[in-house]
This record gives sequence, C-alpha cells and structure tokens, in this order.
Amino acid sequence: MNKLNSKVTDEMNFYKGLNPGQLLKEFGSPLYVYNESILRDRCREMLNLVDYNEFTVSFSSKANSNLAVLEVVQSEGLKIDAMSPGEALIGFKAGFRSEDILYVCNNIAVEEMKFVAEKGMIIGVDSISQLRAWGKVNPGGKVFVRFNPGIGTGHNEKVITGGENTKFGIDAEDVKEVANAVKEFNLKLIGINQHVGSLFMKGDVFIEGARNLIETAKKFDSIEFINLGGGFGIPYNKQNGELPIDLEEMGKMILELINQFNSEIGRSLKYIIEPGRYIAAECGVLLGQVNTVKTSGGKKYIGTDIGFNVLARPVMYDSYHDIEVYRECEACSEKHEKVNIVGNICESGDVIAAERMLPEIFEDDIIAVLDAGAYGHVMSSNYNFRLRPAEVLIRESGEAVLVRERDTICDILNKYKPIGFK
Ligand SMILES: *Cc1c(COP(=O)(O)O)cnc(C)c1O
Repeated sequence: MNKLNSKVTDEMNFYKGLNPGQLLKEFGSPLYVYNESILRDRCREMLNLVDYNEFTVSFSSKANSNLAVLEVVQSEGLKIDAMSPGEALIGFKAGFRSEDILYVCNNIAVEEMKFVAEKGMIIGVDSISQLRAWGKVNPGGKVFVRFNPGIGTGHNEKVITGGENTKFGIDAEDVKEVANAVKEFNLKLIGINQHVGSLFMKGDVFIEGARNLIETAKKFDSIEFINLGGGFGIPYNKQNGELPIDLEEMGKMILELINQFNSEIGRSLKYIIEPGRYIAAECGVLLGQVNTVKTSGGKKYIGTDIGFNVLARPVMYDSYHDIEVYRECEACSEKHEKVNIVGNICESGDVIAAERMLPEIFEDDIIAVLDAGAYGHVMSSNYNFRLRPAEVLIRESGEAVLVRERDTICDILNKYKPIGFK
C-alpha cells in the first residue's frame, strides 16, 4: 500500500501497522475505523482537565453511541449523557448504571419521562412545561434544569445552543416559575446545566455563559452540581497546521470559575462537563473507495462511495474534514491538483470536500476522511436505500475487530409490508 498523503494518521500511528486497503477488503467499503488508544487518550485528557475532586466527565453519547466505544469510555471512568431511550439502553448494555447516566432531553413525551423514572436516571429538563410534566410523572423526584446561558457559540448556526436564537433552555428571568413548579411538585432541584454550543477552540464564550449561570445557581439552595456543558472543539484542519485546544489554559479557566462559584455559593459543588466531539472525533477515520474520476465543466470530480448518507457533516454543516489518499495499484504521479470529492447519492450537493488540493487521484484509490468519529456513523442513514457501513475498532493490541456489522438489505426490506394488489 502506497500512502500518498498520510502525515496525520502516520503521526498518530492510527492504523497501528494495519493496511487500510486490507480493512476495506475484509469489512467492506465504506467503513468507519476507530482507534481505541486515541479514544482512551481523549477520555483521559478530559478527566484530567481540571484538578478538582468532584469533577465529572459525562460523554455526550449522541456523538458516537457505538457499543464498543461506550464500553471503552465506561472503562475509563466517564459517565454519559443520553438523549433518548435508545441511547440510555445502549449505555446500560455498555455497563453504565442508572446513576452514571444524565438524561439530557428536549421536548420529550410523558411516556419517555416514565421510562426515565422507571430506570432511575437523573433527568435534565429545559422548559417549564417539561419540568411540570416531570413533576406529574415523578412527584418528589430529582431533576436538573437547563438554563439558557444567554450567550452562544458554534461552528455553524445549527449548533449554537445558547443565546437568542435557540430552542434550548429556560431563560434566566424565569427562575421564579422554575421555583414555583419545583415547589408545587415537591421536586428536588439538584443541578443546573448550560450548553453554549458545539465546537469552540477558545473558552471565552463557554466561561462567560457559565458565569451567567452562577446568578441562577445562587437562587437554589438544593443544588448539588453545576453542569457546564460540552462543545470542546478539535482541529479539523490538521493538514494546514491547525492546533488543538489549549487544554492547560482551558483547565485553569474552569478551575478559576469553580473556585469563584464555590466561594460565592459558600460550599463546594460538584462540576460536570459533557464533551461529545472532543472524546470521539479524532479516534475515527472513514474509509471509502474511488469509483470514478472525471472532469466536467472544467472541474475534476472524484466519485466515491462516501455519500452524505454515510457522513452528513459536510452537507449539513459545511464542515471541513482533512482527506488522505492511499493507493494499492502501481500508478504514480507527481502532480497535485484541485479536486472535488463527491459521493454516490443522487443530489448535486453530495460533496465531501470541495476544491481540495490533493495528489492526483486515480480510480480504485482509497479516500480517508479524518476526524469522522463524532457525528459520523450516528448520523448516517439509509437514504437512496443504501446500507449504513460497518464499524471496526483497532484495539490497543493492534488487532482490528468488527464492532458493528454493516446493514444488510434484508434488515431494511423486511420492514416493508406490501399492500398486495392482486
Ligand atoms: C450535543 C451536546 C453536547 C456535546 O456537544 P459536543 O460539541 O459534541 O461536545 C453536550 N451537551 C448537550 C446538552 C448537547 O446537546
């Protein structure tokens, strides 16, 4: 195997000596490949972010809820956020206990609240209406409340979850109503929560949002924890030298904040962060193959099997992912050129990487989309009646194991019931 531009994965020792072409042959293309060592490193970095005893890292499992990934995260001592019964159930399967799962939900049905109560998970609600609904389902129960931190950030409008234009959280001025609902149903408000948005590389907005929370926190004596949210970014553009978050600086800022909170409140609270992307993104690479190369309207198109049904981020958020190219045949070229890497879905928006300068690519080459471990497979779909890919984990030992089978066409076809014209 000839790796034409594999600097990033080489430096991370991503494949641990395994041959990506061989992985595709064995498990099918396209394929999500995860690296256990990198996943463990990211878990540890977050656990060690702040030098404070009662500091918990709750992995936002929506970023990657593969069972094996959750098992690794569990074995590292993290907890998880779940947002649906499915995420909670796969969390249980991975070994998390009820008390390890924060049910951070949005606009859920009463039936779902009953499920949360039955399972004994801690729920976080983000509207007065949901708080009251929870009170009815589970009077006297525990709850935490998500407030809008009054400020937001994110890599795309769609993922800014604080500030003025968002469906999330309760406005700070509504604390009185929160207090009333808590009292009416005899609830115990044990925590408050913010989440400013997804993918920040500097902590300023995160910290400012958290500062706004303290005024709210002071109004509730029963509070045991403050959940500062997630959103810690990763450098998606490593090939151009983008640097990771300065964790040391971030850790210091958070510790300062914690000390300030504790002194204003007059006791030591527990603190939680809930990173998703930071934990899972960099341990994942999406491999696919080049089926066609063509020039049209003066542009060069590299036609692959990685459509937006497989990786939605570029189409959904205009996201940038570094691309590597590997080759098994003998073809060689010194040329670099601008190309458009596209998928096999019947929409012209099906572009993974636009106008990207890469070594000349030939048919049968392998494309690797980097940093695909978060919001990758979990957002894949059967659009165009295509099969969601398999997922493989490269263990610390260097062995590749299948951790989710690729869909089969029967899985999908069998759900349909003919109306049966005779
Ligand atoms: C999605 C989400 C997170 C995780 O966001 P990342 O950007 O992946 O870190 C954390 N908290 C809440 C409430 C979320 O919805």
